[in-house]
Amino acid sequence: MGSTITSSHEAIGLEEKYGAHNYHPLEVVLNKGEGVFLWDVEGKRYFDFLSAYSAVNQGHCHPRIINALIEQAKELTLTSRAFYNDKLGIAEKYVCETFGYNKALFMNSGAEANETAIKLARKWGYTKKGIPDNEAVIVAVKKNFHGRTTSIISASTDPSSRNGFGPFMPGFEIIDYDNIEAIEKALKNPNVCGLWIEPIQGEAGVYVPKYGYLKAAADLCKKHNVLLMMDEIQTGIARTGKMLASDHEGVRPDLLILGKALSGGVLPISVVLADDDIMLVIKPGEHGSTFGGNPMAAAVVMEALQVVKDENLAANAEKLGTVFRQRMNALKVKSDLIKLVRGKGLLNAIIINDSPESETAWNLCLKFAEHGLLAKPTHGNIIRLAPPLVITEEQIHECCDIIEKCVLNFKK
Ligand code: PLP
Repeated sequence: MGSTITSSHEAIGLEEKYGAHNYHPLEVVLNKGEGVFLWDVEGKRYFDFLSAYSAVNQGHCHPRIINALIEQAKELTLTSRAFYNDKLGIAEKYVCETFGYNKALFMNSGAEANETAIKLARKWGYTKKGIPDNEAVIVAVKKNFHGRTTSIISASTDPSSRNGFGPFMPGFEIIDYDNIEAIEKALKNPNVCGLWIEPIQGEAGVYVPKYGYLKAAADLCKKHNVLLMMDEIQTGIARTGKMLASDHEGVRPDLLILGKALSGGVLPISVVLADDDIMLVIKPGEHGSTFGGNPMAAAVVMEALQVVKDENLAANAEKLGTVFRQRMNALKVKSDLIKLVRGKGLLNAIIINDSPESETAWNLCLKFAEHGLLAKPTHGNIIRLAPPLVITEEQIHECCDIIEKCVLNFKK
């Protein structure tokens, strides 16, 4: 066992020396979280405006979720799916009833859930739609982010996700996002089995499509007998002001893909939900995961979702999201630094008036951190602002005051 860290400098040095350099973190070293707050090893307190990429919607270390984790950990943690356990079925029933589907398939990371959805869509395409063997096509969109596995990055258009990692998996067609005509055209190909989209593109910079896009996508999928594969890993579980971002347009995807806040950030848990005619195309032995659907995940997922319902987090996100955007739009009028404010619920972004290659957004985030608020740019000049959904109206105003002060005093 290693010794205890005594300074940020020491922790950063260790990661630099012994860890892979696959991230570029802000230089804060955190050792405690509670609700909307994080603390660094020097004892400084911050508002968390990233929420671990929306995994911590319920707030850090929510006592009910932590308790569910501890109680289950004392009884049974892992059996693998070689045997039944007494928690998985209850959790499957709970998530199916919560989201309105016949069946659930639990995995761990978001990428794995997307991989699962790809396999389900392809197998459905061959066995139900009659697509010739190995010719299934999944239509994805530009600037998507679905994870980091080699097949998922085959559908990516982001050079930093792809470059140097080929050869790529065939079977994807990439079209423009937020373009209904492009969907109509792509879905005419009879070999298309799935349309794979995020209802709001989070990683790309919180791109909110025009109202009506999701509904039109769902209608076109129905018309062309194509599965709508909705990646709600970042947007789901109350983040955008409704339980699912698809709910804003009354859309029910054929394959619903969830992760992150399913556990409130305490374990990697993801799930794919679908009805029987789709889910049952996968037979025993054709897909799985040693940890997927383990008893700890089962106990945690139920408590984490129940917290979202009991604490009305969707309604809070809707209400405080409006307050937040009003404040940011008012700031935009006062400062040339902000070009645009966009988002839904508490998934928002400010676009900085500088080139994506500039350091301006990064330097502004350093100022935020200095003043006790943690956020990070996504794609250069876009700063995503996504606090835990347990934030109060008073706290939102306090955070807007911090952002305002930093923006108005910022010198390039
Ligand atoms: N899909 C979306 C929309 C995401 O935002 C992310 C992560 O940010 C993923 C998939 C990948 O999830 P994970 O990092 O758990 O594999």
